[in-house]
Parts: sequence; structure tokens; C-alpha cells
Amino acid sequence: MRIPMIVGNWKMNKTAATVAKFMDGIRDNLPDSRMIETAICAPALFLERMVAHTADMPLEIGAENCYFEDSGAFTGETSPMALSQAGVDFVILGHSERRKIFRETDEMVNLKVQAVFRNHMRPIICCDETMGQRENNDTVHWVVAQVIEALKGVSEEDARTAIIAYEPSWAIGVGTPATPDQIEEGCYLIRQTVADVYDDTIADEVRVLYGGSVKPANINEIMQKVDVDGVLVGNASLEAQSFLELISNDP
Ligand code: PEP
Repeated sequence: MRIPMIVGNWKMNKTAATVAKFMDGIRDNLPDSRMIETAICAPALFLERMVAHTADMPLEIGAENCYFEDSGAFTGETSPMALSQAGVDFVILGHSERRKIFRETDEMVNLKVQAVFRNHMRPIICCDETMGQRENNDTVHWVVAQVIEALKGVSEEDARTAIIAYEPSWAIGVGTPATPDQIEEGCYLIRQTVADVYDDTIADEVRVLYGGSVKPANINEIMQKVDVDGVLVGNASLEAQSFLELISNDP
């Protein structure tokens, strides 16, 4: 049984004051983590404080990116070792904004995936798909290649704990998600690729999320799909009220 998962991605938003307000807003309203796993991925500067704040709450904390070396002369980068020592549980890797704006390649994403596992955290690996690729019938090739590349060199033991998100960039931040059938198609494709790379047992354990304009009004329909284990949410995770509505809407 895969536990459903709702993950917020705050991107480069929030201030110390609004983080504190969010935490106060959700503090006593989170569900049992055995029923649904909830996490917020936040800018690096807030992480240590958020980990301390949530020590007694069923909420996990994730980073939005990290470097693939643990330490050294890499000015401005965030060490996965430091994130792990700060108590961070997850790291989002390969988000379409990082692939596009910061020119992250599949090879870099793979090195980061290995670094996150090496430091005893779990990656949330994002697989992008542009509208151009969809229109050119290139989705299958594109999504499959990203999954294969991201998991290169990852042991079976680690792979079964990976979280992989289907995040078509054409549905991110626009207000309208992909259709439930398109979402299922993308998530199924990811699970089948994991089965091809490893086996059916591991594919059955890996959690596959959908991301792109998920909000309280549409989460239910999306979560009904068989290969969708949860959602990665940007805008609708920024306010406590909306985050709580996402969680309570989960079937
Ligand atoms: C995201 O950036 O991962 C995302 C899913 O954003 P939004 O929910 O705002 O579309």
C-alpha cells in the first residue's frame, strides 16, 4: 500500500514572518502521517527553523535543490550533507524551472539524486514535458529518458524509496492542470519505466506524484487515478488554509 503524499513547493517565496504564520496555521490541523504523508519544500534559508518548528508535527521538510558534492569550492551552492544534518527529509531535484532557467541536465540531476541518497534523504525527481514535446508525440521518449537518466547507478534499495513527479511544464503555474487522463498516462509511464529499469515490485513501491496547477478544487479528481500517489503543489501550498484544504480533500 502506497501512502498518499501531498508536497508543497514554495519556490522562492515567503519571508520569516510568513513562514511562522503558515506553521501556526497548520500546527494543530495535520492528519496522521500513517494515512497521508505531508511535506513542504522551502527555500534553503528557512529549512533549519522549519525543521525545529515541526519536530512534534506530522510534517516533513524538504529542500528545493542541492549540489551534488558534499563540500568544497562551490560558491553559492547548498551542500546535501548540510541539508541532511539540518534534518531535511527530501530534496526536489530536476524541477522544470531548474532545468530551463539554470540549465540543469539529466546528468546533473542524476549526480544530485545520488548525492541525496548518499546523505540519507529522499529525492523528489521531477520529470518535465513541454507542450511542444506533447504536440510532437514525444512525451513517451522524453519522460522515459528523464527517469532512466535520473536513476542511473541508484541501487534497488534506494530506488524503492524514490519519489518521482510527472510535472508537465505547460501545466505549471497556469491555473489549469493536465486532464486526469493525461495525468494518469504520465504517471503510468513513469511507473512502467521504473519496472523496466528495476522490477515490478520496486515500481509498485515507488511513489509517483503529479504537479501542475493542483488546487483544492481539482485535487480529488486527480488523486482518484490509479498511478497517482500524490501531488506536488506550488501556488496552492503557499497559504496554510489552502494547504489544509488540499490535505482534507484527499479521498
Ligand atoms: C510546481 O512548480 O512544482 C508546481 C506544481 O506549481 P503550481 O502548483 O503552482 O502549478
